[in-house]
Amino acid sequence: MNVLLAILPDSVTVLTAASDVHNATWHDFSRFLDAGKGSLVSGMSELKNYFHRFGYLPNSNFTDFFDTEFESALTLYQSKLSLPVTGKLDTDTISAIISPRCGVSDMSQHTALHATRHFAYFYGKPRWARPSPVSLTYAFSPNHMVSYLNPSDVRDIFHRAFSRWSAVIPVNFTETDDYASADIKIGFYRGDHGDGEPFDGVLGVLGHAFSPENGRFHLDAAESWAIDFKTDKSKVAIDLESVATHEIGHVLGLAHASVKEAVMYPSLSPRTKKVDLKIDDVEGVQALYGSNPNFKFGSLQSENSHNQAVSLKSRSSSKWSILLTLTTTLVLLLGLNLAT
Ligand SMILES: [Zn+2]
Ligand SMILES: [Zn+2]
Repeated sequence: MNVLLAILPDSVTVLTAASDVHNATWHDFSRFLDAGKGSLVSGMSELKNYFHRFGYLPNSNFTDFFDTEFESALTLYQSKLSLPVTGKLDTDTISAIISPRCGVSDMSQHTALHATRHFAYFYGKPRWARPSPVSLTYAFSPNHMVSYLNPSDVRDIFHRAFSRWSAVIPVNFTETDDYASADIKIGFYRGDHGDGEPFDGVLGVLGHAFSPENGRFHLDAAESWAIDFKTDKSKVAIDLESVATHEIGHVLGLAHASVKEAVMYPSLSPRTKKVDLKIDDVEGVQALYGSNPNFKFGSLQSENSHNQAVSLKSRSSSKWSILLTLTTTLVLLLGLNLAT
């Protein structure tokens, strides 16, 4: 449970600190709790819009009636996010809906066929089609950064995030000052920023990146981006390195995974750091690009039989880099103004 949620037996309320939040006050989701097929709840149409944005409902002209189609969408969502599959708006599901997440649609992708694997690719399985080892450049937008972050800290964070991926695949990433020609273009944007996927203010959607070989990598400038939680005490602080690592996965061609521990899982709670690639992430990206010859699965530090952190003790963190393929679509706006 993240710090923004307080769940009581018969109500689900999002609590946010007024000093941290500019546009999101608090949303009362209690009216939806345990709603199931046949329910008619005011505001349900906005929840349906949320499911539409992330790929679970095909059309967008919604009523407040909990119909069969919405039940199917909910079941699919619960399955995709590894929640208990109840077909109802239970507390686990509402908590997931409230949780901050990536803007990339959960459905713009193929799911791996192997029952034991949970990574996914975008339609057409796009990748950076260059001779191996692939060399990609990245640059920060000269005009779209956030002033409270130290530029050298940001550069260090992205260097580490790219290195995690280049440690496992034969792709190397090099920062360049030439933004116009860079393969991967990184910037912080507010609201509608021209790509059809507007950001939504504090929390909700945190960022999005496009599939290969697009290279656009966008972060929501409205977030309280954190370099270090020891010095950043905001209740809604979002770890920049965690989101950067996730979005690089999209740049390379990975879509969302259903393994909660995986970097490619779509949501990330505030004040949470999740930067170590798991087996699911590694297997997915290696199926696109092959393995970095210096990488050994044996170097994965065991956590359990299915989810293991990747040790980044690769000898060549800068030599090999990754291919990032980014993905497309993103969606967003968790600004469900349901608390009217
Ligand atoms: Zn994502
Ligand atoms: Zn964008």
